[in-house]
Amino acid sequence: MRDIFRDLRDAVDLHVHPAPDSFPRLLDDVEIAEDARAKRMRAVVLKGHTSITADRAAIATRMVPGVEVYGGVVLNPAVGGLNPEAVRASIAMGGRVVWGPTMWAQQHVDYIRRHPMSGYRAIGMRFPARGVTLFRDAARTDVDPRIYEILELVREADGIFATGHFHRDEVGVILDHAERIGLRKIVVTHPNYQVLEFTLEDCRRFAARGAYLEWCYLPLTPHWMLRSPESWGLGEIAAAIRELGAERCLLSSDLGQLHNAPPAEGLREFIQALREEGVADKDLETMTRATPARLLGLE
Ligand SMILES: [Zn+2]
Repeated sequence: MRDIFRDLRDAVDLHVHPAPDSFPRLLDDVEIAEDARAKRMRAVVLKGHTSITADRAAIATRMVPGVEVYGGVVLNPAVGGLNPEAVRASIAMGGRVVWGPTMWAQQHVDYIRRHPMSGYRAIGMRFPARGVTLFRDAARTDVDPRIYEILELVREADGIFATGHFHRDEVGVILDHAERIGLRKIVVTHPNYQVLEFTLEDCRRFAARGAYLEWCYLPLTPHWMLRSPESWGLGEIAAAIRELGAERCLLSSDLGQLHNAPPAEGLREFIQALREEGVADKDLETMTRATPARLLGLE
């Protein structure tokens, strides 16, 4: 029997960080595509904190026949935050994913204020006083209507909305509206990332509402600057997958950092490590092949 876990045959990584970015990265778009092709992967999705990646992905796809490269846009201040025009541009260029804000999200800024992390100095990250948020008031009841327009654009394009570093209440607003308009492709970005402060109970609620939980390898990597005891452990992730069901889960690398393995190798490590935690092979296939391919519309 072929060992699908030795190479990454037909695997899809929905979350890879290429160079150039606003700080150094390990591999550029084309190098990521070449590495994915060498591992016989089917597709990778490029995520950039400060620019649209849909156009870059199209060029990488042409330069590296045999693997599909996709991109999208992250709703950080560099593209205007909650900016429907940036989403329109990304989709027009073939973008498949719209992510919520990342290091510039209010949740991220709030967390860093409470838990200063020296590692950010190395990349020159400066945090704004106020981050990107869906809420226009302190009571968190007045929702910025631009998110509704953005979700509608994603639905029309049959794209994926990924929650980035939004707070659990913001994820709730997104799931409410997604339900109203029939947008089914909602991915909760790395629920195991301690900065988001999600609990297993949060994950149960998100999964019960039809969202996909994208477990990422990055928070588990030993040299990662943000590593902290609050991170979800591998055993906790394996248990969550068993409880919530593999069909509600995805595995992505979130790699591209200089101090980590190349994304494809990281994804392989993650898959094998979960396998050793008792996650079934058919479930690993579902999370790294069938479901991400379907979300990208690759069938
Ligand atoms: Zn990421």
